[in-house]
Amino acid sequence: TDTDTADEAVRTTCDDASTCKRFATSKGYWKDPYIQYFVRSVGERKAPEINRGYYARVQGMNHLLDAFIRKAECDCQVINLGAGLDTTFWRLKDQNLMPRKFFEVDFPTIVARKIHNIKTKPPLSKPIIETHSTDSLLLDAHSLDSDRYCIVGADLRDISSLDEKLKKFQLNPELPTLLLSECVLVYMTPSQSSNLVHWAAETFHTAMFINYEQKERFLKTSWENADALDMMTIYSMLPQEDVARIERLEFLDEKELLQQLLQHYSICWATKDKLNLGKTTLCF
Ligand code: SAM
Repeated sequence: TDTDTADEAVRTTCDDASTCKRFATSKGYWKDPYIQYFVRSVGERKAPEINRGYYARVQGMNHLLDAFIRKAECDCQVINLGAGLDTTFWRLKDQNLMPRKFFEVDFPTIVARKIHNIKTKPPLSKPIIETHSTDSLLLDAHSLDSDRYCIVGADLRDISSLDEKLKKFQLNPELPTLLLSECVLVYMTPSQSSNLVHWAAETFHTAMFINYEQKERFLKTSWENADALDMMTIYSMLPQEDVARIERLEFLDEKELLQQLLQHYSICWATKDKLNLGKTTLCF
């Protein structure tokens, strides 16, 4: 059907994101020792603007995520919505910044591919096994559940089934919760994405939602505070030493194109803070 074709097109965006990240890391924009296990080849060259854009996106998202986890002293959970082949769980493990549990959700077919890679690549499976206390680790074609890491195959447009699946894997509404969506809501209708954002606001009393998207797609449904910065602003706020380092990696003669590109995107975040984690550190 038309819907199946459209959904299949959405699923292929997962490869686009990972391929671009793989290429940028191969050039030295940032380090990701795990992405090679999900995307084997470095692939075709990408324009420097694209690499710088991904650099700002990844650093900006990591900055907010890490600040939240530090503020909660790791006594929190993370839910990456439409995670694709994202490697954040392994980065957090290496940096001793693991939340109590890290959840990922994506379409069942993407999840199946991710699980297959994890099963067959020891550098991916080892950290999961190491942080698991009992022998039995749930692993089937469309879900993986361990003490600290869980991947669920679900459609983010079907809220009741999403809620049910996450709760089955011990999602705890009482814990401070960080929700991430990196280039995901844009693939849904406005009413579907606002249902998802609304569900998050209703489910957790202390939470932060971080969304990377095109600027126009900002949502505020039932969150206490919301902010947004376009990527040009974020780029100028990143550690300038590191920005200078990446700007030396590849020559870019047309700065204007990069600016135009970055101005079209933004990171927005919304918070609810019943436990008083503190607003000051829950911002950029
Ligand atoms: N967040 C990852 C990143 O930035 O590297 C992947 C981004 S990719 C552009 C979008 C992801 O969202 C894909 O993996 C896609 O399968 C997932 N996605 C989009 N709509 C979804 C839905 N309705 N249910 C589950 N996953 C969805």
